[in-house]
Amino acid sequence: MTDNEAKLYLRNWFLARTLYIEYPPKYSKQLELMETTPLVLDNTIKYPACYIRNRWCIKYRDNITIPDDRVLFLHERVHSLRAHLQEDFIKEVLSLKKKENYIKKAEEIYARLFELRYLNNFDPCKLYTINDIRIDVGLLKICNEEQIYKLLNNIM
Ligand SMILES: [Zn+2]
Repeated sequence: MTDNEAKLYLRNWFLARTLYIEYPPKYSKQLELMETTPLVLDNTIKYPACYIRNRWCIKYRDNITIPDDRVLFLHERVHSLRAHLQEDFIKEVLSLKKKENYIKKAEEIYARLFELRYLNNFDPCKLYTINDIRIDVGLLKICNEEQIYKLLNNIM
């Protein structure tokens, strides 16, 4: 998935979600931040791609092969949404403490949730359970059945 495809996917997802979740203006601000976050080529970074939080940009290397089971640009674009409202909901559902390790941070879980939605071809207007997940991206290790249900269905 290219960066432009990732942006299109997120825009379509948010718009389709309005069919059954109220769509307050806060979310259009998130989409605007996502759209305008610059993509910067930098072959010195450690990871294939990463969202630089204090510089508000996504850096990427051009000499990489992205594995089939990860959707890196989608992941980084979700970080660039700066989705604090959704992240607060994740903290609540998973009872996350202030200091958690990397995978148990709300922003990381939200980015992976979108990878999971994309890889499993989930429809933004349908409800899903843990049994519908064919491809996991590390979330099943940290969430139980009820938590996964809430993340999949009660969040943008
Ligand atoms: Zn991440």
